[in-house]
Amino acid sequence: MNSLFDLSGKTVAITGGGGVLGGGIAQYLAAGGAQVAVLDLKLEAAEAVVSAITTAGGRAVAVEINVLERDSVRNALDQCVKAFGPVDILINGAGGNHPSATTNPQQEFFDLPIEAFRKVMDLNIIGTILPCMVFGKAMADREEGIILNVASMNAFKPLTRIPAYSAAKSGVKNFTEWLAVHMAQEYSPKIRVNAVAPGFFLTNQNRFLLTDKDTGELTARGQSIINHTPMNRFGAPEDLYGTIVWLLSDASKFVTGITIPVDGGYSAFGGV
Ligand code: NAD
Repeated sequence: MNSLFDLSGKTVAITGGGGVLGGGIAQYLAAGGAQVAVLDLKLEAAEAVVSAITTAGGRAVAVEINVLERDSVRNALDQCVKAFGPVDILINGAGGNHPSATTNPQQEFFDLPIEAFRKVMDLNIIGTILPCMVFGKAMADREEGIILNVASMNAFKPLTRIPAYSAAKSGVKNFTEWLAVHMAQEYSPKIRVNAVAPGFFLTNQNRFLLTDKDTGELTARGQSIINHTPMNRFGAPEDLYGTIVWLLSDASKFVTGITIPVDGGYSAFGGV
């Protein structure tokens, strides 16, 4: 059974690899024998993840990337190939929301700065599409490869207060379906594209919405999320690993174009 899920020797590139979820995923895959290129806008964050991986005996390299600039993404691909050879797996983990694109009593939807709106849209949707173009082209040339995008609960139903993030993640789910079909039909059925949709995980990009910055207590929104999560807790990075290994490995070799919720039951719960 283990061979079905085996990723040892695979080269994985993960954007947002210096972040909370991306960093955890990078370390888990490296511990399973994959060689991991940890790609992030913040090189120090990527280096910290690489240091944890190499200290544990794994293989990894840190690479600076801006997922919004084609030259930067191309350069990152070159560095991955130089370090480990062709990239077998791309994980698009860079993303997140921002307070400036979030409504609140002081900042109505009508007044949201369009630049802030655009930044969140760009990071989540263009920041997924551009690496798919650059790394996807190399996969098309080799006629094999796996792409994993990171959507969110708001890919299925928008969440209050975060219109840009919701629209963008819904776009990530739609684009995952489009690219899965395109790659299989135009290039190779051995190129698969799927997504995970994490429920609520307390990380840097949503801490301001879920906890009070002074007391650390749950905000009303944070408590409401827990109340709507039948498993009654936030997710932890390790909650994602099993689903991700399945989607990246031969265990899912006839699966493409899907977005899997990993959410403690949130998306199944009607609220009553
Ligand atoms: P995080 O903020 O810890 O990590 C995001 C990483 O992306 C950071 O290291 C950041 O430096 C990097 N990044 C930002 N802009 C970049 C750019 N232009 N180029 C390259 N890297 C860039 O957040 P996280 O919660 O670990 O998020 C990881 C992914 O999971 C994101 O796509 C996020 O939207 C998604 N997600 C998170 C949750 C959650 O509850 N935390 C839920 C659903 C989906």
